[in-house]
Amino acid sequence: LLEMNHIQKSFEGLSVLKDISLSVDKGEVFSIIGPSGSGKTTLLRCATMLETIDGGEILYHGQRATWTENGKVVYAPKNERKQISSMFGLVFQNYNLFPHMTVLKNITDAPVRVQKREKEEAKATAMELLRKVGMEDKAGAYPCQLSGGQQQRVAIARALALHPSILFFDEPTSALDPELTAEVLKVIKSLADLHIAMVIVTHEMSFAKDISDRILFMAGGVIVEQGTPDEVFSSNNERTRSFLGRYG
Ligand code: ATP
Repeated sequence: LLEMNHIQKSFEGLSVLKDISLSVDKGEVFSIIGPSGSGKTTLLRCATMLETIDGGEILYHGQRATWTENGKVVYAPKNERKQISSMFGLVFQNYNLFPHMTVLKNITDAPVRVQKREKEEAKATAMELLRKVGMEDKAGAYPCQLSGGQQQRVAIARALALHPSILFFDEPTSALDPELTAEVLKVIKSLADLHIAMVIVTHEMSFAKDISDRILFMAGGVIVEQGTPDEVFSSNNERTRSFLGRYG
């Protein structure tokens, strides 16, 4: 579904991603863990084309989003890029809901305006998704009337409304206190039965262990290891052990 090969990325001479390769399969839950500053968010931003890459290539469903020509990274033309972008959804740390729209409108806006879906159908889907994230009674509320955890659950419903085949989460609970974190993690866990692939950057180790099919551990812009939760959590690699040790 997603393939990233030999990705390189620098910021003003600082090499942040050094030859990163990974692939995510259909329906797979793939977590990315690692110390602060290791490049996790940058990797996610590159995967979703919010950030350009300096080297390597990105493919979705075997379709090239980027490739290299004469030593330079080239991006697919705008129309193709748009079509590729429609395959994925994004959930950020800070929810980013539209403050002037109700919860329901936040969810139906893009399906109706961008995907040209029927209003009634979009509304029905939105209500179904709100039920899924336990927010159906807040359809008429505005974001400012909701807790951070509730806003994040709406943000998840909004991303799902576009029917992505892969959903990216960038530290979805890092702005939340523990109680609200638990409620959002529970919702993310419940999405597993939708069979949408999920790529999750997280500092929640027990969650990553619990939910993931595979975990990638990165440090200093390189992949230290990737494998099943059992493999990573019982790893003999010193860096992995020392990192996981800090989380008990
Ligand atoms: P955290 O867990 O703290 O969110 P991270 O693993 O997600 O960290 P990144 O946010 O990807 O790490 O950052 C990796 C490195 O790249 C850091 O040194 C950061 O300062 C640098 N960096 C990220 N974005 C930019 C940017 N737009 N311009 C310059 N440097 C950047």
